[in-house]
Amino acid sequence: MPELPEVEMVVRHLQKLVTHRTILKAQLIRPGLAPENTPRQFAAWLRNATIQEASRRGKHILLHFDNARSLLVHLRMTGRFLYLEQDQANPPHTHALFLLDNAKKLAFADQRHFGLMHIAKTAELSQVRHLSKLAPEPFGEAFTANYLHAVLSRSKQPIKLTLLDQTKVLGLGNIYVSEALHRAKINPLLISSQLSKPRTTVLHREIVAVLSEAIANNSTMNTNPEEVSGSYTGGVYETMTKVYEREGLPCYTCQTPIQRFVQGGRSTYYCSKCQSR
Ligand SMILES: [Zn+2]
Repeated sequence: MPELPEVEMVVRHLQKLVTHRTILKAQLIRPGLAPENTPRQFAAWLRNATIQEASRRGKHILLHFDNARSLLVHLRMTGRFLYLEQDQANPPHTHALFLLDNAKKLAFADQRHFGLMHIAKTAELSQVRHLSKLAPEPFGEAFTANYLHAVLSRSKQPIKLTLLDQTKVLGLGNIYVSEALHRAKINPLLISSQLSKPRTTVLHREIVAVLSEAIANNSTMNTNPEEVSGSYTGGVYETMTKVYEREGLPCYTCQTPIQRFVQGGRSTYYCSKCQSR
């Protein structure tokens, strides 16, 4: 499932592939993909629009056009962009299609149907409900150890659940939250407000480090839209996790078998010795 590093990789690929390209024709094939826009609006607002920039806010991909509108895209579970020749067949589960001015097309395929698109005026983007409540970007200046300490000190939830709340801390999904807590030697069940300031400083450093390393190592998925025939999973970082999906395997630090338990409906992986408190 794409998390922030995976989305960042997709944005970097799109920036390279489609910036300065003009959309000759846009087609919303599955109307439920963009429930707040009609297929007619989708086609009209994107026709002859030139893509000026691809960017990201949290796990949302943003394509900004020269007509003062932007397309917001959330990949959710299985959403994926594919970049093809126009005479190639559309991939299975293609739910939106963009014909470009270079004989290429960009297809949005989504096997599980959870993906989301929304066209908004670029000037009003920060007030769009999908984005308005998001916490500061993890690589931005506002995300500091002091910010993290203030957020955690107000929460009586287990720390893993607070870190997954995108209105409090942005960018951690189930993979990277387990990795960040392991690297910071924090028990996932610790009550958020009980984390000391020095340990919060370590956690802040490890959150930024784990996200940066995942991006530097091509994330956990195959995010290149040009690799049409390859599997969506199988990024390099998938093999580099220290606890995630390593249940029963020895901790790299102390050899204790990694444990898994279900927390908030999702698997948590940790080392009971390194992360005892
Ligand atoms: Zn250990």
